[in-house]
Amino acid sequence: METKTVLVTGGGRGIGKAIALAFAKEGYQVAVNYNGSEEAAKETASLCEQEGVKAKIYRCNVADYTAVEQMMKQVNEDFGSIDVLVNNSGITKDGLLLRMKEEDFDKVIDINLKGTFNCIRHAARIMMKQRHGSIINMSSVVGIMGNIGQMNYAASKAGIIGLTKSVAKELASRNIRVNAIAPGFVETEMTKVLSEEARSAAMSVIALKRFASVDDIANLAVFLGSDKSSYITGQTIQVDGGMSM
Ligand code: NAP
Repeated sequence: METKTVLVTGGGRGIGKAIALAFAKEGYQVAVNYNGSEEAAKETASLCEQEGVKAKIYRCNVADYTAVEQMMKQVNEDFGSIDVLVNNSGITKDGLLLRMKEEDFDKVIDINLKGTFNCIRHAARIMMKQRHGSIINMSSVVGIMGNIGQMNYAASKAGIIGLTKSVAKELASRNIRVNAIAPGFVETEMTKVLSEEARSAAMSVIALKRFASVDDIANLAVFLGSDKSSYITGQTIQVDGGMSM
């Protein structure tokens, strides 16, 4: 098999780390993007290398349009292609509507939604030249169902679904597929902050009665990145244990 390259944003920790490792296990070269967590990114890259593949880390704030352009060029130069792009980076800044600060609304939209646009915008040119590519965007069930106290996050994740469908339509003729994953509750740092009350409220609506592991999400990412999903584009696939049916 010709060696393929995946770029995972926010690949240093959480779901992104599991995705980076899952692709490495499939023989992909891995570009690990990070913003604040350099040590974690180095650790992910080293674990990928232990799978026998090339891996490198790239510091870049995905909300910075120009920095993302530079990162994409650098990854393409270092690895020779970007076959799969996983837009995984994301943050929460929760608050009820009447207490939501303007800067918290803007920051979540900037990183989650505009960050996804920035990465697609600059990777698309490279993928168009290659005449193939798979883009995977991290949405959330919250973007489908809404959630009290998360209107900024929900808006960013719902925006990602619209972005995914539109770009899938634009890039289909170039042999580039674009899909989104909408996880429910996943055991990571992001959900560690939830109170016991919030956890049990969540559990009561999850049919499978457990939170997702990071590997539940990574397995789907690998499938969507591979040719095994070659007839799937523009879709948002829920990995939520039957939370929203
Ligand atoms: P996490 O553990 O909090 O990790 C967030 C990741 O995003 C980190 O790798 C972080 O990198 C990166 N990141 C944050 N700001 C960034 C920026 N400005 N530029 C580049 N990278 C940035 O979160 P997670 O639970 O793994 O979530 C990963 C994705 O899945 C997110 O998009 C999240 O919204 C989505 N999701 C999570 C859940 C869940 O239950 N956990 C559910 C649905 C959807 P640094 O530390 O290097 O800054």
